[in-house]
Amino acid sequence: MDPVVILGGGLAGLSAAHFLSQPWHLVEKSDRVGGLIKTEVLDGCAFDATGHWLHLRDAEVRQLVDTVWLPGQLVVHQRRAAIYSRGVFTRFPYQVNTHGLPPDVVAENLIGFIDATLGEKGRALREREPRNFAEFILRHMGEGFAKNFMLPYNRKLWTVDPAELSAAWCGRFVPRPTLKEVVDGALGVGSDALGYNATFLYPREGGIEALARAMLRHLKGGEVSVGVEPVAVDWRARRVSLSDGRSLVYKRLLSTISLPGLVRLLARGGAGVPDEVQDAAGRLRATTVTYVCVAVRGRNRQPWHWIYLPEPEFTTYRIGSPSAVWAPLAPPDTSTFSVEYSHHGELSTAQAEKVALEDLVRAQMIHGVEDVLFARAREIPHAYVLYDDAYGPARDTILRFLEHAGILTAGRYGNWEYSSMEDAILSGRAAARRLPG
Ligand SMILES: Cc1cc2nc3c(=O)[nH]c(=O)nc-3n(C[C@H](O)[C@H](O)[C@H](O)COP(=O)(O)OP(=O)(O)OC[C@H]3O[C@@H](n4cnc5c(N)ncnc54)[C@H](O)[C@@H]3O)c2cc1C
Repeated sequence: MDPVVILGGGLAGLSAAHFLSQPWHLVEKSDRVGGLIKTEVLDGCAFDATGHWLHLRDAEVRQLVDTVWLPGQLVVHQRRAAIYSRGVFTRFPYQVNTHGLPPDVVAENLIGFIDATLGEKGRALREREPRNFAEFILRHMGEGFAKNFMLPYNRKLWTVDPAELSAAWCGRFVPRPTLKEVVDGALGVGSDALGYNATFLYPREGGIEALARAMLRHLKGGEVSVGVEPVAVDWRARRVSLSDGRSLVYKRLLSTISLPGLVRLLARGGAGVPDEVQDAAGRLRATTVTYVCVAVRGRNRQPWHWIYLPEPEFTTYRIGSPSAVWAPLAPPDTSTFSVEYSHHGELSTAQAEKVALEDLVRAQMIHGVEDVLFARAREIPHAYVLYDDAYGPARDTILRFLEHAGILTAGRYGNWEYSSMEDAILSGRAAARRLPG
C-alpha cells in the first residue's frame, strides 16, 4: 500500500507519524529530526533554539509525555522572568508588576489602564472589536502600558508596527489583567503567576531535543528518511521527487514544512499550481530570528530565566539564560545566555555577536566582556509569521488549493501560525486523525 508521506520531522511531523494508523514515510531535510527543538552543545554548554519551555494542557499528550516519551524526565520550573526597563528589573508580566519602576511611569501605566478599561476616554475602543494589535493593546491595557512596554517591545519582536498586525494570534499568549491585579502590582503586593507560562516543564537531560529523540524512538509502522529533501511534488500523480533521485508515490501527503516552501515544491511538480496560489505564497511574511549563544565564566549574575527588553536602545527584545533555568545545561561555574534579535535578513552573524555582548553588559546580565568564553550566532530563517493584512486572505487561498489537491498540513509553519510545541503535537495528531487507516 502507498504510504502517507510526511514532509518535515519537527514535532508536528513526529506527532503525525505517531498517531497515524496506516503506513507512513517521513522525509526530513536536516541530518536529524526535531526541527526547532534541536539542542546544540557548544564547548559543553547546551543551547536550544532560544528558550523552549514546555506547557501541556491536553490530557492525552500529557499522558504520552509522562508515561511513554519522557517518563520521570520532566522537571517543573516556576517561571522567573523579568522586564528590564528604566534601568530596573521588574517581574513579568509587566502589567501586574510595575512596583519598582519610577513613580511617574507607574502612575502613567495605572491611569492609562483605568481610562482604557473603565473611563470615558476608552469607551469608543471598548464598544467595538480591536481592528489591529495596537488597538487591542490600547483597549485592554491603556496608553501607559502601550507606551512603556507593549508597543516598543512588540515593534522589536515583530519588526513592524503593531498597528500593521491583527490581534488574531494573541489568544492565550498575551495576559489581560484585572484592575485589582494591576493595582496590586503597582503597590508591590501582587502575584506573578499570571499568564500561560507561570510554570513550565523541561527535560532533566538532553535539552528540549530529548523530546524529539524519544518520539523518534517510539515510532512504529513507517520509515524515516533524514538528510534528504523533496525537490518537487506532483499532486495529480501523488508523487514526491527526492533530492537523492528517489520518487515516493503517496496515498496522502501531510506537510509540516513551511506553507510557501510547499507551494514552491508544488510549482515545480508536473501538475503545477494556479498563479493566484503562487502570488498568495509570496505575500506571506515572517521574521528571521538570530540568537546568539553566549557562555560566560562564573555563575549567573541575575536570577532571571529570561528578560524582556522593551527599550529601543537595546537591539535585542529578549535575553534567556539556559543555565539559570537548569544548571546542568552548562559546566560548573559557567553561565549561558541566548540573546535574540528579530529582523528580515539584514543582521550579519558578526554584528549580532558583537551587539549581544554589549546588550548583555548594558542589561546587567553579565559584569563585563572579559569573562565571555564564546558568542556564536545562529539563525531561524522564518521564526514568527506576521499576522498582517495579507495574512488571512493569502493563507486561505493556499489552504483552499491544498484541500483541492488532497494535501493536509500541520504545525507552526505548515499551518503558518503562531503556536507552541504542544500545538505542533496536537496539530500533527489532528491531521493523522483525518486519515483513518
Ligand atoms: C524563537 C522561538 C522560541 C520558541 N519557544 C517556545 C517555547 O518556549 N515553548 C513552546 O511551546 N514553543 C516554543 N516555540 C514554538 C515551537 O518551536 C514550535 O511550535 C514547534 O517546534 C514547531 O514544530 P513544527 O514541527 O511545526 O515545525 P518545525 O520544528 O519547524 O519542523 C519542521 C521540520 O521540517 C523540516 N523541513 C523544512 N523544510 C523541509 C523540506 N523542504 N523538506 C523536508 N523537510 C523540511 C525542518 O528541517 C524541520 O525539521 C518557539 C518558537 C520560536 C521560533
